Amino acid sequence: MNKSPLREQFPTLVGEHFEVWISEGWLTLVTETLGLLRQEQGNMPGLRIDEIKQKWGQLVINGEGFSERANAIVDDAREKSSTICEVCGIQGDPILSRGRHVAGVRCAEHVSVKRGTLVADESNKQV
Ligand SMILES: [Zn+2]
Repeated sequence: MNKSPLREQFPTLVGEHFEVWISEGWLTLVTETLGLLRQEQGNMPGLRIDEIKQKWGQLVINGEGFSERANAIVDDAREKSSTICEVCGIQGDPILSRGRHVAGVRCAEHVSVKRGTLVADESNKQV
């Protein structure tokens, strides 16, 4: 149960030290994005994903060997993520932390819910 579904689905794409720090609501977006990146890996065999996280309410995907197309795929996913509730995956809006910076994305129902369960992954077992 601690193994990330992403690690199992994309064994050629994720690096050895792959870490996932996203909540369940973004899993569909992340899975679609990794699917596109795996296609691009046909052109860029060195493409690797090392880290997937949320920063300032947006999806961040870090890795190495990114082509221009891979960067475009990641940029597109980052833009989409700011309208997807991290808790449930329906349409949401950025929420502010102490009225200053964006702390996450929530739908109306989950606006006051703290960050949901992280996607299961053995690398963040200690959380
Ligand atoms: Zn929601």
